Amino acid sequence: MLAKDVIKTALKMNDLGINQGTSGNVSARKGSGFLITPSGLDYDSLKAKDIVKVKQDGSYKGPLKPSSEWRFHHDIYQVRDDVNAIIHTHSKFATTLACLRQDLPPFHYMIAVAGGKDIRCAPYATFGSQDLSDHAIEALQDRKACLLANHGMIVAAENLKKALAIAHEIELLCEQYLNALQVGEPHILSDAEMEEVLEKFKTYGKQDTKEDS
Ligand code: 13P
Ligand code: ZN
Repeated sequence: MLAKDVIKTALKMNDLGINQGTSGNVSARKGSGFLITPSGLDYDSLKAKDIVKVKQDGSYKGPLKPSSEWRFHHDIYQVRDDVNAIIHTHSKFATTLACLRQDLPPFHYMIAVAGGKDIRCAPYATFGSQDLSDHAIEALQDRKACLLANHGMIVAAENLKKALAIAHEIELLCEQYLNALQVGEPHILSDAEMEEVLEKFKTYGKQDTKEDS
């Protein structure tokens, strides 16, 4: 059941140490709308009935209000056919980098996990605002993830499992990048080197014997 999967993903974010308290939110596309975690509540006590269904026109029904970030979840689903799940977190290292308002360059080949040669940081806008949504959509162009200045990160992927894995990987990349910066100037991979990685990523992890999930 999709609502339970949304809760499970939210709980796993906490288990993985990439979110805490009432920060962050999770959604999954359902029909022409989407299911999303309610605003300002700890994930621990969430029940399937607490997950809010937001319709295509932005209206919702249910006793609980949807995440204050429902707008960017909504707008991303509208413009990105490839996206069925969205995770937003204030994870420690990604947020540290976002506070420096820095893009994450290809200092490590795994940057390609977000679908391109870098991971952009969207300009600052107030949480829950239309401006934040507009900035996020732009930073997510041809990407599955972006940072949000002075805020956190967004991952937009094919399904909840992939979104969680990408969020976890990006948090690790941000930690590695910040560590490297403490010691020196990290070497940045060239365009050609990243092209090669992106090409290999088209088949990486796809075993002939197993369905990709
Ligand atoms: P919600 O609790 O409303 O989802 O807000 C958390 C958050 O991260 C806002 O940016
Ligand atoms: Zn947030």
